[in-house]
Amino acid sequence: MELRQKIKRMAMEMGAAYFGIADLEQAKSGATTPYEGKLISRYQTAISIGFPLLKDIVDAIGDTDDLFALSNYRYHVYEVVNPRINDITLSVAGAIIQAGYQALAVPASHTVDAPNLTGLFSHKMAANLAGLGWIGKNCLMITPDRGPRVRWGTVLTDFVDQAGTPYTGKGCGGCDLCVSSCPAGAFTGRSFDQHEPRKVRMDAHKCLQYIWQERKQKVGIEACGLCVQVCPFGHKSKAMG
Ligand code: SF4
Ligand code: SF4
Repeated sequence: MELRQKIKRMAMEMGAAYFGIADLEQAKSGATTPYEGKLISRYQTAISIGFPLLKDIVDAIGDTDDLFALSNYRYHVYEVVNPRINDITLSVAGAIIQAGYQALAVPASHTVDAPNLTGLFSHKMAANLAGLGWIGKNCLMITPDRGPRVRWGTVLTDFVDQAGTPYTGKGCGGCDLCVSSCPAGAFTGRSFDQHEPRKVRMDAHKCLQYIWQERKQKVGIEACGLCVQVCPFGHKSKAMG
């Protein structure tokens, strides 16, 4: 079986619902951090893998007084889904290396630059370039069928295969539900532009501060997720995620 089919089947059998290949040549002018630029100059391809969140778990956090639902959401995202994604990307990277290429699995959720709140590499950029969706006004990856109710993993590699076309769908349009719903006022409402830094659209420190002060310290749960819950595209999700 050819390598592309092999790794796609591997990811899907392990629970992924989205698989795409991005040509990183298109990302050369859009690297958001110097480290990302270094990775882009080393690897030609990003393999993007999306794992859906369970619909009922996300729906339940719309009631912000339901702290059991919020606690369950946090556990689902960070303790259940993120480790599953890391398992998938590690397995995919292993299969690519076995085939004679280089591969780097980017962690599902790991901040490497604490002052700037950035990870190793943007999963959203990889998924967008692979054609799997757009980056919304909430700075999350929005899929047409599940909205932002998907968590992402990425494998960087020098294996080159036919890449997807960057998503150019209708995007958020006039909607600004996530912007008006954010209790921290973290979003500016500006649409994504790959040439602008994230801070033009979002103050990530406001989100972090809210989650720490209003949620963790006051109610004991370090989570919010309203910008995921309210997006109308996510309300189309199927019952099983
Ligand atoms: S998680 Fe909550 S506080 Fe943070 S950006 Fe989303 S809606 Fe705002
Ligand atoms: S809630 Fe509306 S503005 Fe926010 S990401 Fe979803 S579609 Fe875009």
